[in-house]
Amino acid sequence: NSFLELNLSRPLLRACEALGYTKPTPIQAACIPIALTGRDICGSAITGSGKTAAFSLPTLERLLFRPKRVQAIRVLVLTPTRELAVQVHSMMEKLAQFTDIRCCLIVGGLSSKMQETALRSMPDVVVATPGRMIDHLRNSMSVDLEDLAVLILDEADRLLELGFNAEIRELVRLCPKRRQTMLFSATMTEEVDELVKLSMTKPMRLAA
Ligand code: AMP
Repeated sequence: NSFLELNLSRPLLRACEALGYTKPTPIQAACIPIALTGRDICGSAITGSGKTAAFSLPTLERLLFRPKRVQAIRVLVLTPTRELAVQVHSMMEKLAQFTDIRCCLIVGGLSSKMQETALRSMPDVVVATPGRMIDHLRNSMSVDLEDLAVLILDEADRLLELGFNAEIRELVRLCPKRRQTMLFSATMTEEVDELVKLSMTKPMRLAA
């Protein structure tokens, strides 16, 4: 029951230590080993469960061992609100602080031009709200999801409640078929289940 048993690399273990994490939360203990195998995951987890690190740590670990350094967006995290995107982005930056992995934040309300520049500099991880991400993909020839390895849908129930269904479907279509998808939701509604069917292959279901 320690991070040492989870097969994470030194830079990520150092980050956990720097954040004061001594042992994994239940959702982390359940999610990290499975996510590291590349399997799709559908997790019921609420804010406060440690779900952000549960999906971020294995995702960052897999980026560290990408076969060749691909200059492209490798991970896309979609969140329902700007506030949550800011939190997830900040957490991922902290967890990646001892690596060369670069994260970028794409949300409404911030300068589109600056975000465009950030996207063109080829970050590994993009944390975004759906509407703004689609704007960038539509308007910029140099931004695409063709090399995406991991898609994460955070707070899926709220993404749907806030009316992002069409945007998410469009984003899923723009991702490569061969990818890992992780979805987290506080509640598992019928709509969330439809999204699971649409976006995932034989997901492992986890609850915390
Ligand atoms: P989350 O559920 O991802 O919003 O995380 C809730 C809070 O728990 C955040 O402030 C995290 O920094 C913190 N946290 C996440 N994992 C751990 C852990 N293993 N030990 C202690 N705190 C943690």
